[in-house]
Amino acid sequence: MIRVGLTFNVNHHLHDSILNGFPCPENPSRLIKIMDYLKEKNLIDGFKCHMYESEPASARDILRVHSAKYVNLIRSCTGNSQLNPGNDIFVCPSSYEVAMHALGCVLNAGDLVVDGKCTHSLALVRPPGHHAGPDASSGFCLFNNSGILVKYLQEIHGIDRIAILNIDAHASDGTYAVFEADPNVLCISIHQDQSTLYPHKGFIREIGAIPALGYCINMEMPPESSNPEYGIFYDEVAEKVLEEFDPQLVILECGFDAYYKEPLTKLNLTIEGYYRIIFKLASKWNVITLLEGGYHDDLGLLTSVVLRALLGEDNVKDDVDLVDLLASRHVKTRKNFNDNLFLLKNRLNPYWGLWNRA
Ligand SMILES: [Zn+2]
Repeated sequence: MIRVGLTFNVNHHLHDSILNGFPCPENPSRLIKIMDYLKEKNLIDGFKCHMYESEPASARDILRVHSAKYVNLIRSCTGNSQLNPGNDIFVCPSSYEVAMHALGCVLNAGDLVVDGKCTHSLALVRPPGHHAGPDASSGFCLFNNSGILVKYLQEIHGIDRIAILNIDAHASDGTYAVFEADPNVLCISIHQDQSTLYPHKGFIREIGAIPALGYCINMEMPPESSNPEYGIFYDEVAEKVLEEFDPQLVILECGFDAYYKEPLTKLNLTIEGYYRIIFKLASKWNVITLLEGGYHDDLGLLTSVVLRALLGEDNVKDDVDLVDLLASRHVKTRKNFNDNLFLLKNRLNPYWGLWNRA
């Protein structure tokens, strides 16, 4: 069996704010960097990793999550640049077709795993999706890729229990809005402290709604948090809750903007930090990985690290990891992290019993 199936939305370059006359960090160079790096390192097609072609999704797929009114707004905006689709998002003439193909890649990444063709999958797509809610969006996202995939897996494949883990630096507020009252979907989002970063949602106190209290988990990481803090959260909260929830598969909202070189955020994950989380996740569950944010020059390198982790291969540490440059330099950061972790565990304890288990 192929260990990792890749999908890629080939028309992504047609979604570009520069066509509307202004630049945006979420632009085609992100995926171009990734694909160039993977090709240069011969990582795309091999014995254990294979690229699959994908068909576009349908309007029916989107409407499982989004309202017809919102979908019509996005479609209207493609024909009229004067209309406003939402905060910090842009729509150009081909954006709807691009988003539909991106979603097709996402659904195909799900099919590959569910049909048993691949152990894990990675959808290299843009625009990202995790800020898109049912009736509105913001933050460079148009449609909620992971939410649409979950609904598709539930309705078409009859899968009951699905978990979503967001490791993008920004809170997964759109995904939360879709599933906050659904106890069949566990949403865990680990992101930068929401008093310091957009979208200013996803606070620790937000744990879902009846009848799914405890099924949405938001961990706020203080600025400067790095591999050790992420490792503690993953081991002491994320992994334990995942084990108890026992998902049939996990969707990873994989943003690369928690990386220490990211200009838009203040977190300090290194390639080793990304590798450890994804390696541990993929060692226990089938993982469908979806590209979210990340706006620096190392997107190709980080994608190769994700592949290595999904393939179960050893990581290749870079200089920053070798000298442990960013590990726990900030005493205040660790104290704030410990305070947040304490708050979160207390909030979740009635639902998951994190401190009562060995
Ligand atoms: Zn982000």
